[in-house]
Amino acid sequence: MTTHGLFIDGTWGPAASGRTFAVENPATGETIAMVADGDGDDARRAIEAAGARQSDWSRSAPRERGEILRRTYEIIMNRADELAALITAEMGKPLAEARGEVMYGAEFFRWFAEEAVRIGGDHTLSGDGRTRILVTKGPVGPCVLVTPWNFPLAMGARKIGPAVAAGCTMVFKPAEQTPLTSLALTRILTEAGLPAGVLNVVTTSDPGGVVGPWMSSGIARKISFTGSTDVGRLLLAQAAENVMRSSMELGGNAPFLVCEDAALDRAVEGAVTAKMRNMGEACTAANRFFVHRSVAGEFSAKLGERLSALKVADGAARGAEVGPLIDRAGMEKVEQLVDDAVGRGASVVVGGSRLSGSGYFYAPTVLADVPPDAALMSTEIFGPVAPIIPFDDEEEAVRLANDTEWGLVGYVFTTDLDRAFRIGEALDVGMVGVNTGLVSNPGAPFGGVKHSGLGREGGRAGIEEYLESKYLAIPRS
Ligand code: NAP
Repeated sequence: MTTHGLFIDGTWGPAASGRTFAVENPATGETIAMVADGDGDDARRAIEAAGARQSDWSRSAPRERGEILRRTYEIIMNRADELAALITAEMGKPLAEARGEVMYGAEFFRWFAEEAVRIGGDHTLSGDGRTRILVTKGPVGPCVLVTPWNFPLAMGARKIGPAVAAGCTMVFKPAEQTPLTSLALTRILTEAGLPAGVLNVVTTSDPGGVVGPWMSSGIARKISFTGSTDVGRLLLAQAAENVMRSSMELGGNAPFLVCEDAALDRAVEGAVTAKMRNMGEACTAANRFFVHRSVAGEFSAKLGERLSALKVADGAARGAEVGPLIDRAGMEKVEQLVDDAVGRGASVVVGGSRLSGSGYFYAPTVLADVPPDAALMSTEIFGPVAPIIPFDDEEEAVRLANDTEWGLVGYVFTTDLDRAFRIGEALDVGMVGVNTGLVSNPGAPFGGVKHSGLGREGGRAGIEEYLESKYLAIPRS
């Protein structure tokens, strides 16, 4: 079985302790590879390498950085099938979806290849006409990147792409459950010409033991984190010690609104996408379906029909549409949330239980008439469960939708243009899907408000997270 090393200062090698940990296929429970188990000593070497390389890398030509990103995009596209198979093996999503993630992730490299040579500045005159105000933009400095397991390629791409474009060096800790895709991406970036020391990767089974030393090093100037709100809060507190720039892509509790005038079949298709992409293990997954009472019965029945027809299987199997959940804990959490909702009066339209056999499979589920006190109303389900809550008027729907600490994304289905704008503006979220169940797009600013995070990834805003402004005052004589 292959054992993968850490990547520090351009060299692959074992962890200082010599320890390794296993990576498992969630469809079978089998170990598919061993990975070096980094600790504080490895973390210090990695951040020192990133710190030492920063000054040179800051002065590199934007075109050179853009070309590295462009080559990365091309290599990823050429190896799309290989990368998709790796994502499916370590994360579980069906191959077709894994391929979609590869395309999505690759596109960040192409986008930021183009952004690298468009880093602007500003030149104005002070109000009294006596001073030229020249604003330049430069890299923030060494960045700490930490990613979750649910999109093993795209989450790293959204951070590494803009960091390289801006001229930042990096220390990167991928998720313990899905490090293999990140390591493959690291090899691709090296092949594309990324110089030694710019990207340093430490895999570990002790995240605090690696990320903690990075945060307290005084070398790192920024943290970009994607993951749960609880860990995000912890890292923000650590960032405060060294006053580090912070980008936080945290959890969600997305509302999905279906108005009485919605095109119902389109709303059902949107719901299938917003709920079932990644088996529901996405921060953007619709978590609460608010449906106008007059169409709630028909919507539940149609959604139930669509979800129960999906093929649940090992993601690598031909025609698989729904894969396993990431692990036993993830499956048991979904099970408890459904039992709690049913215990409080919700009715099961379809699904409602785990599937027998090996792997962590849960049946696509629709729950009708879910009461407001059900735990899943205030918990990220992270599984294939659609809870439906009827509403009577638009004002009530918006109030229920906003009644959460999170604010990542919302979805609204209506054929009334005024209403689409009205609800879109009233939702307390960073992104709104109007008659669509998919908002993720490398050209758009992805991110949330409230406890869903700080900052944006992708779009024109994406690179700004990695740039610092400097203003030069030049008197006019
Ligand atoms: P998580 O438990 O917060 O883990 C995310 C990353 O943080 C992993 O690499 C994890 O390492 C690391 N980590 C855990 N404890 C840490 C600590 N004490 N110090 C430093 N790093 C630590 O989240 P997850 O379960 O992997 O991912 C699911 C969450 O991510 C959901 O809440 C989802 O909504 C969110 N998410 C948000 C977005 C977005 O863009 N807003 C996108 C995708 C996912 P280990 O792997 O070793 O635990």
